[in-house]
Amino acid sequence: MNLNTITELKRPAAAEQITQWRDGYAWLAGGTWLFSEPQVATDTLIDLVGLQWPALTASADGLEIAATCRIGELYHYAPPAAWRAAPLFKDCCNALLASWKIWNAATVGGNICMSLPAGSMLSLTCALEATYTLWPREGAPRSVAAVDFVTGNHANILRPGELLRSIHIPAAALAKRYALRRASLTKLGRSAALLIGTQGKGGDLLLTITAATPTPIQLRFAKNPSADELQHAIDARIPFDGYFNDVNGSAAYKRHLTHYFAEQIRSEMGSPQ
Ligand SMILES: Cc1cc2nc3c(=O)[nH]c(=O)nc-3n(C[C@H](O)[C@H](O)[C@H](O)COP(=O)(O)OP(=O)(O)OC[C@H]3O[C@@H](n4cnc5c(N)ncnc54)[C@H](O)[C@@H]3O)c2cc1C
Repeated sequence: MNLNTITELKRPAAAEQITQWRDGYAWLAGGTWLFSEPQVATDTLIDLVGLQWPALTASADGLEIAATCRIGELYHYAPPAAWRAAPLFKDCCNALLASWKIWNAATVGGNICMSLPAGSMLSLTCALEATYTLWPREGAPRSVAAVDFVTGNHANILRPGELLRSIHIPAAALAKRYALRRASLTKLGRSAALLIGTQGKGGDLLLTITAATPTPIQLRFAKNPSADELQHAIDARIPFDGYFNDVNGSAAYKRHLTHYFAEQIRSEMGSPQ
């Protein structure tokens, strides 16, 4: 849609060119959310496209994803064979309600910064133990664990004007085996629950619960737990009213899915390989 409150579009070649930040400014990534509804509090868009950050950079340490990497680029990325968890890239792109047309514009960073419960780039990066690099307008860059970024539905730790620069996924997490379960009320609908379990060679379990809760929740077990241990750990961590109630499913339904899928993942992870 046309945004008739916008009076200026800035196209910096480097983030440092934006020296001042004020109310009314907004970073523009793919624009798929920004242009989907009126932005009455915004008068200036600052386009990230001119920054020209390399989308995906693999190294022995893992994978560096620029915030401006398009969802479609991540989908088509050909990972090294040793990264057993890399099929999650495609799984999580497919977990968005959005079609490939949106994937060609929407960015990984835009999805993360939206910080919606059904943000599957959050699911992906939390499950793969990513670290985000943030660029404040003033001061040194800072790092945060992906799982600590979101503070609520459509809320996160970004300060005014702070940029999400990149996402680092460590090679150790990419080498793990994984299991994913997801449900939505309609075939191509937004996720009601999206759970991912990962397991290293030692037989541990890292369970990441997203979409069902306002913020990603992570449970770490030194070894695959029993069914009872798992169910108790979920209840101890997420109170009965701690599930996200919206048009994509009631809180009770999402609680049910969380327990049901967690047990399926636990069972699938049963014997380390
Ligand atoms: C058809 C459709 C389906 C969708 N389905 C889903 C879905 O299933 N699940 C879901 O979670 N969302 C969904 N969305 C919303 C979705 O989160 C966004 O459209 C998309 O991920 C945003 O990415 P973008 O690059 O287009 O961001 P933009 O629209 O450009 O920006 C989104 C917000 O993030 C900020 N921002 C962007 N990049 C940065 C950065 N690097 N640093 C700091 N701030 C930044 C912008 O200022 C803005 O506030 C859908 C949207 C559409 C149109």
